[in-house]
Amino acid sequence: MTFASLGLIDPLLRALDALHYTQPTPVQTNAIPAILAGRDVMAAAQTGTGKTAGFALPLLQKLSMEGAPVASNSIRSLILVPTRELAEQVHESIRAYGKNLPLRTHVAYGGVSINPQMMKLRKGLDVLVATPGRLLDLYQKNAVRFNQLQILVLDEADRMLDLGFSREIDAVLAALPARRQTLLFSATFSEAIRALAARLLVDPLSIDAGKRNTTAKAVKQWIVPVDKKRKTELFCHLLKKKAWTQVLVFVKTRRGVEELVEVLAARGVSADSIHGDKPQPARLRALERFKRAEVQILVATDVAARGLDIDDLPQVVNFDLPIVAEDYVHRIGRTGRAGATGEAISLVCADEVQLLSAIETLTQQLLPRFEEAGFEPDHRVPLTDARGQVVKKPKKPKKPKTGKPALPAKA
Ligand code: AMP
Repeated sequence: MTFASLGLIDPLLRALDALHYTQPTPVQTNAIPAILAGRDVMAAAQTGTGKTAGFALPLLQKLSMEGAPVASNSIRSLILVPTRELAEQVHESIRAYGKNLPLRTHVAYGGVSINPQMMKLRKGLDVLVATPGRLLDLYQKNAVRFNQLQILVLDEADRMLDLGFSREIDAVLAALPARRQTLLFSATFSEAIRALAARLLVDPLSIDAGKRNTTAKAVKQWIVPVDKKRKTELFCHLLKKKAWTQVLVFVKTRRGVEELVEVLAARGVSADSIHGDKPQPARLRALERFKRAEVQILVATDVAARGLDIDDLPQVVNFDLPIVAEDYVHRIGRTGRAGATGEAISLVCADEVQLLSAIETLTQQLLPRFEEAGFEPDHRVPLTDARGQVVKKPKKPKKPKTGKPALPAKA
């Protein structure tokens, strides 16, 4: 299968050549012809499946071949995404794929000044990538009009609902023209997503990228049981012993992120952080520095991490397990992408056994355990079974209530 056989035009094929994409991924093979034919699509596809090109390539082709030139403050397509980082990443992809096409594109998200975004919209845009909150702000300021909108994409729709954007999404949807093509991408399909899909899509083609709720096969995963208070020490030990080059580390809280960065800095390891408390320019700077390998360790919280696109990342370390099991799948999607192999190592303490069990249930696998010599925990992490359940310890027999001593069992 080639990109040309999917019906893509020459300017896109040349851009894909430059990116060394030789073969379409399964989600691309299914989505591209359907979208080009004008169908609505609902796809179960997580990060790492090539979903972005799956919707972006046919979208760019349709916009360059169909429809009227864009009027001022109007947009011809809208890609809604949950986070600023994903917005940047999707826009970067759109620019790379569309570099040989005369289309106007821009990205809009909160946490930065709205004025440059309003200026960009003045001449109209063929593609706007936006987070729901900032899009609504722009709409309320009359900076964006939807009357020319041909295509709507909801990317990582499950995450948008998780982050509490359903009110904003409803408000945006109410303002869009009813006649349009709608594409919905989501890593998981909960009841809420199905309900949204039923409202939005007309006779959609349903695509399953094949890895729903399961983790990428190319990623080797294991856990290292450890006492909570020794996690930092263990991380530093593994970093040195295994000679990890670049590591993306997930920590539960913003404070935990900063604490780990400080310890690493004190030991002369270059590290930067990315979390919701940091201003947007600082978050983007940290990501860029990590991508250019100027820092060895990037420490992140889940919310900040959703949109990170870092190729060929050999290691992801879960310093803390995620509270929401689905986030485990997203986290380790950062490694082993597009066929590369990767490793995902979780440092797990006894308190986290329920979280571990939830992950094993979701991904339907038992994560192998490897204790590190010198770090064997005092508080053992209870065993889980093949169904991802915590193995309960057998209860002690109850003492008789009468107070009389139990009769010794007869031999
Ligand atoms: P996504 O699932 O859209 O986040 O894409 C995951 C990664 O795979 C990105 O780094 C893309 O640049 C890359 N990618 C997407 N499609 C292909 C392809 N057909 N061949 C090689 N790499 C690809």
